[in-house]
Amino acid sequence: MRGRARNLEFPIAWNRVAAWVLIGGLLGSACAYRPIDPGTEPFPASTLARDLDRSLLAEGGADRLVVEVDWVEGCKPGPKTIAGLDRILDKYLADGLDYSIELDDEIPADRWDDREPVLPLIRDLILEFAADGFPRSPPGHERRYAIFVPAADGLNGFAFNWRGREGADVVKELKGLVVAREPHRRYARRTWLGVDKFERTTLIHEFGHVLGLVTNDRHEMNVVESRHCTRLGCIVTRPTTRVILRNSIPGLFGVLPDDFCKLCRRDIERARAYWAAHETTTVDEPGL
Ligand SMILES: [Zn+2]
Ligand SMILES: [Zn+2]
Repeated sequence: MRGRARNLEFPIAWNRVAAWVLIGGLLGSACAYRPIDPGTEPFPASTLARDLDRSLLAEGGADRLVVEVDWVEGCKPGPKTIAGLDRILDKYLADGLDYSIELDDEIPADRWDDREPVLPLIRDLILEFAADGFPRSPPGHERRYAIFVPAADGLNGFAFNWRGREGADVVKELKGLVVAREPHRRYARRTWLGVDKFERTTLIHEFGHVLGLVTNDRHEMNVVESRHCTRLGCIVTRPTTRVILRNSIPGLFGVLPDDFCKLCRRDIERARAYWAAHETTTVDEPGL
């Protein structure tokens, strides 16, 4: 028996698993957080149209999108992560928008430095390796960056939208997201799901932010600067303990959230309808 125990590849704490399943099942029935404003009127479509990324989501937006993927040596994203993003792009980008995901630069490991805070270094590496400075895209061409790094000051990842200005005019924009390896490696060690699946959830979550989710008060979590969905099964919710418990039962079967919920999808549909009805009107980018 002792010999057999030594051969177990995964040291699974079954009592802990059972507790998770029980608690997850109890909480699973209460499937959403409180929104900022449960209001009786629908949230204004004009606000959704302002906050969501018209160039990627609207008919008649950009012609072409390249998602450039770069990684620090040792953090190259796995196939499930890339396939998960591909599926989201295929499903949500405007019809007729030609897109590709390009695995581009490997950033040498000796350029990485673990000292916190590491966010300024990440920014420098993005500017140096991914963005080659701060480029201006040709008209109709959009570029988004997905950068995989060893760590990000304790974050699973984050989305960024940097603007270069000349006077009052925004002349250049750099939009994308970062995924940090270290927390995902930790999740993978505690479970029997690989790093690849966990990083897929973060990549898609952050891409949701890149698209402009969630600013609808009717299903935006009631937390300061939330921008996260109230639905526990939505990929754009915050990964709180309650969310993790809710998702632990499907997780037992290898299934992690990988899509926007119906409320988030509805926001995209309503913004599209608004853009279609206001085709000649220029919609200002948020924050301009
Ligand atoms: Zn988020
Ligand atoms: Zn949602």
